[in-house]
Amino acid sequence: MIDQQPRAGIDYPRNWHELLAWFPEDAACLRYLERLRWGRGLTCRFCGAVDGSWWQMRDGLRRCALCRSETSVTAGTIFAGTRTPLVSWFAAIWYVVNQKQGVSALGLQRVLGLGSYETAWTWLHKLRRGMVLPGRELLAGAVEIDETYVGARQTSVGGRSPGTRRSSRSPSRATRRPSGCGCDGSPTSSATR
Ligand SMILES: [Zn+2]
Repeated sequence: MIDQQPRAGIDYPRNWHELLAWFPEDAACLRYLERLRWGRGLTCRFCGAVDGSWWQMRDGLRRCALCRSETSVTAGTIFAGTRTPLVSWFAAIWYVVNQKQGVSALGLQRVLGLGSYETAWTWLHKLRRGMVLPGRELLAGAVEIDETYVGARQTSVGGRSPGTRRSSRSPSRATRRPSGCGCDGSPTSSATR
């Protein structure tokens, strides 16, 4: 079970080396997904039994003791029915969420050695859809942006390209919320620099 504030090195790997050490095979990925999804108890999606008894059939697969139906931990997720090893999915997720400048399908294909651009494109769109928070609200109030670029690329002068002028960084990547929104009004991130 992961708390509201996931802890690096405990709830998720801190770096690429930890990623490889934590998830050397699909069984480890399944156990991790079980912890995420069923850490607070398993609700049978067939009979609706809440936190009832179950049998562990194998990693990622449990059988409800009440209705005898089997539930996979990947059912209803982007991993459902995939023929690709979960370790590859986990590696793709790690790569996508760690690229500050964004990820292209071509970049994903190259890094993971995927067979085709179409596969990489499909993966990327699945991951992007999975990262959308259901019921999300629009940003409101004073919003701070981590960094940005100002101005257009300038014309090359004397063989030199001055490139894009870059603005100074804002001091924080936090998003501030207005009071009265059900929170304490403090920044949602403590990544103040
Ligand atoms: Zn059941």
